[in-house]
Amino acid sequence: MKKHLVMVGAGHAHLTILKNLEHIVKNGDTVTVISPGNYQYYSGMGPGMLAGRYRPQDVRFDVKKMTVDRGGTFIKSRVVKIKPSQKLLMLSSDQTIPYDVASFNTGSMVALNSKQFMGPNVFSAKPIENLLAARKQILEHRADLPVSVTVVGGGPTGLELAANVRQLIVGHKKTADIHLIAGKKLLGNFPLKARKLALRFLAAKKITVIENAMAESFDSQYVTLSDGRRILSELVLLATGVRPSSIYRDSGLQTDNYDGLLVNDYLQAIDYPNIFGGGDCIGLRSQQLAKVGVYAVRQNPILWHNVMAKMKGGPLAKFVPQKAVMLIFNLGDGTGLFCRKSVVWRGRLAFKLKNTIDTKFMRRFQLSGERKEP
Ligand SMILES: Cc1cc2nc3c(=O)[nH]c(=O)nc-3n(C[C@H](O)[C@H](O)[C@H](O)COP(=O)(O)OP(=O)(O)OC[C@H]3O[C@@H](n4cnc5c(N)ncnc54)[C@H](O)[C@@H]3O)c2cc1C
Repeated sequence: MKKHLVMVGAGHAHLTILKNLEHIVKNGDTVTVISPGNYQYYSGMGPGMLAGRYRPQDVRFDVKKMTVDRGGTFIKSRVVKIKPSQKLLMLSSDQTIPYDVASFNTGSMVALNSKQFMGPNVFSAKPIENLLAARKQILEHRADLPVSVTVVGGGPTGLELAANVRQLIVGHKKTADIHLIAGKKLLGNFPLKARKLALRFLAAKKITVIENAMAESFDSQYVTLSDGRRILSELVLLATGVRPSSIYRDSGLQTDNYDGLLVNDYLQAIDYPNIFGGGDCIGLRSQQLAKVGVYAVRQNPILWHNVMAKMKGGPLAKFVPQKAVMLIFNLGDGTGLFCRKSVVWRGRLAFKLKNTIDTKFMRRFQLSGERKEP
């Protein structure tokens, strides 16, 4: 019997299935991709796009074209509810889509009480497109006055955003007062050496780091901190960690403590074997994984194999996460901060390595003439 595969979200973990859609369609099965946008941006190159190192065309996949060119149906919308026992998906566009097999790769969003941080000058680090809007606003600022930018979040994303805002400013001969509100500690979950190198780098770039204080609100002029300090801020970038949306919990599916769709080692929902998931939106039952793109990328072949096995019959493959992940943070000035377990160093070679890995990944999946777009 012919089957209908629905892919919800066209994130990093779904790219291999997207690339191979025609193999599914050739069998007479049908595929629908539901995504809120025609483009999927590659987050690893987002900070570089903010600084101007990469053009938007260099860091995005045309997931609509990728789907349609391979015989799938693309629906620009978002899933708001899943009815797993009826195998139905409810969309924000009021459509109801039936499925035989569904795969979810809906990512995550910046976790912060958004009511406290609202307005046209506030940009969260996700979706990555926000960084383009932030870039535009910084470039439109009066050239004769410094622009005050506050980055909220002391993790790798906060570090990368602050560093790349500085690079954007330097590259356009502008001036800026940049603050990084790091919460308890900058890079608190990383080895001490990473923290020291990052603090030294930020001091050299005249980026003021505030530790032991939380940003609590923004009133369109000032960010107020938990210790009462107020930081003049014309533009605020939020990088306060991410979590999945609540659609899985709201739909009665089993979730982890962070609302991620709970999956077994086959990336399969616990009570519904015809539902799969990958990337930031899942919680692996056997171990908790950091929300990093590296895992989403590694889940690609497993999701492709398991979705096909579910459609045609056959054994499922296990996802075995790598023991240690290599992370390289783009510091904007042509250097990177390399972290893998206790191996930490900063230099041009680190950024070169990151750029090589990232551009290689883009070339594998940019199959729709993205880089030639005007
Ligand atoms: C600035 C920045 C830099 C980063 N750099 C790195 C890095 O260098 N290395 C690294 O390993 N990690 C990095 N990360 C982490 C990385 O972004 C995430 O781990 C990665 O994006 C996860 O991929 P994903 O496919 O799960 O989610 P996403 O990339 O978020 O994709 C999910 C997609 O699903 C869509 N979607 C959401 N909700 C719905 C819905 N209800 N219905 C349909 N579609 C939906 C979204 O619009 C999006 O297109 C970075 C993160 C940020 C913010």
